This record gives sequence, structure tokens and C-alpha cells, in this order.
Amino acid sequence: MRAAYLIAPGQLELRDERVPGAEPGGVVVRVRVALTDGTDLKAFRRGHPQMPLPTRFGHEFSGDVAALGAGVTAFAPGDPILSVHSAPCGTCYWCRHEEEELCEHVMATKILGAYAEYVAIPPHILNRNAFHKPANVSYESGAFLEPLACVVHSLRLLQLAPDATLGIVGDGGFGILHALVARAFGIAQPVLIGRRNERLALARALGIVRTIDARENDARAAVAAFTGGRGLDAVVESTGTQAVWESAPDLVRRGGTVSLFGGLPGGSRVSFDAARLHYDEVRLISPFHFTPRAVREAFELLAAGAIEVEPLISERFTLERVGEAFASLDAGHGLKYAIVP
Ligand SMILES: [Zn+2]
Repeated sequence: MRAAYLIAPGQLELRDERVPGAEPGGVVVRVRVALTDGTDLKAFRRGHPQMPLPTRFGHEFSGDVAALGAGVTAFAPGDPILSVHSAPCGTCYWCRHEEEELCEHVMATKILGAYAEYVAIPPHILNRNAFHKPANVSYESGAFLEPLACVVHSLRLLQLAPDATLGIVGDGGFGILHALVARAFGIAQPVLIGRRNERLALARALGIVRTIDARENDARAAVAAFTGGRGLDAVVESTGTQAVWESAPDLVRRGGTVSLFGGLPGGSRVSFDAARLHYDEVRLISPFHFTPRAVREAFELLAAGAIEVEPLISERFTLERVGEAFASLDAGHGLKYAIVP
């Protein structure tokens, strides 16, 4: 089979290798759709501390079960399957305290290699974070399970009241997904703040009626205008840039919460106005990864048809063109691309 490897920043290579075998309790999946995402793009640009090079590449996918390991009874060959690429160990300190996103082993036991014809899912992931694809969910939508799980985890950490005002800064895939999931969770009018007209227009077409183009408007003034001058109950930083991390507290009300979702490169330092945080009780949280609860909830959103995610796919590429796809993303084109092996 062919599998894409990131061999150096900016350099993807397709290699021929043997189709993986299924380990006992695991399965092998014939990949039908894999999606690009911001983490992959960051790794493509500058490498990634969690991905020593060369590495198999890609982690958002859906497909069909091609082979079963010994003892697997929950799936049969040919079954369409949705899965994320990691699962917690279930026994470490964090797992025992329902903070499985911080599991000691979750990063070391994750799988990469979705930009390939086949990918092996080990038992710990199959048992906790994989599902039969419902017939009403397309392979393309189903490949959103993992980014949706990140977003569900992020929004659940905010513990928003039903009437909360929520802003999201960043009009990338994760920013738009935050707005869509927030609405599915009952937040009537999340506001999406971005800098790319075509992406804000896409969000509006998907029902996110409140958008602010930060190139033309002062986001803080625009937010004040529809919150009675108070500011938002919560804001999600989804750009992964230092300037937005530092300015995000300006958008929330006294007692509001800032969620720092978009990670910065290792070693980055940020600064905040201490008086604003203290005397206005502005809380900072920083969600990372997801729990099995979030994966299940993301699956249920997809299965219920509660959110429309396919329009976030800007273009489809064959596996042979995966390098071209990333060069295009690197040049600032497209939102998410589907890689179809
Ligand atoms: Zn654990």
C-alpha cells in the first residue's frame, strides 16, 4: 500500500509498504477519507514535538474495516467505521480522575498515518473511541469525529449557561466548528471573529449569523455593542497566535472566561494585565485534546445530523497529491482538504 510520510518540514513522501496486520483485539481499516487539519499543517511547516521525523502522517479519517484481529466481535469485515486516533489508558492518575485528556499514555499510544490506504487501529482505541458509522453519516462527515471531539471537550470545559454570549476568535476549521457545535449545544448566536471574508461568509451560510471581520472592525467595540457594553460571557481563542492570546481577555465581561484553545509553539511566553484578571475575575482555561465522553458526544452530534460539517471541506485530493494539498494549505488556500486514497 501507499502511505504518506512527513520526512522533514515541508517535505512529504509517499512510500510503498506492507499493509499492516491487525493485532489481537484490533482492526485494520481501509481509509476512505482523511482530512487535513491545523495541527498537521503546523507539523508540516515546522515539525511537531509529538511527531519525531520521519513520521506517518494524518490523524482524521473514516473507512471500512478490512481485517480483524483475534477476539474482535464488535466489528466485522466490511463494516464502515468511525474512529479517533487515540484513547487514554484508563488506569493512570488522570484517567482515574476523569481527566483522560491528560492521560500519561494518550500521546505515546496514539496512531498516525491516516494519509494512507490502510491504517491499523489498536485495541485500546477500538474499545473506547471507535463506532459503527451510521448510514446517514457520510465518510467525509464521519472523518470530522476527532476535531469535533476536541471542540466538544473545549466547549464543555467552559460550562456555558444556555443564555451565554460566546465569541470565537479565528475563522479556521476549529473556529467554525466551535461556532457550529456551540449552536448545537443551544447557544443561540455565537459570534465568529475572523479576518477572511470567504470563511466568514461560509460560516454565515452555515447559520452563524453573527460574524465580525476584524480587519475592518474593532472587535472589542463590536462585541460591546451587542452585549450592553459588558463584553462576552466567554471567548475561545482559536488562532494559535500570541497577539490574540493576549488580547482575548479584552472581549469578555467581568467574571467572563477566556478559553485558550489554539496552542502556541513550545517556549512561547504571553502576558496579561494582572489587574484585569484579578479585579474583574477573568478566568483563563486552556483545553487540550479530548476525553472518551467528548468523543461519544461528538459521535452523537454526527449521528443526529445536528451539525453540517461537509461544507468545511474546500477540495478533494487523491493520496498521490497529498504534498500538493499541504503546499496549497501552506500558501493560505483552503480550509480543510479531504485526502481520498
Ligand atoms: Zn491514563
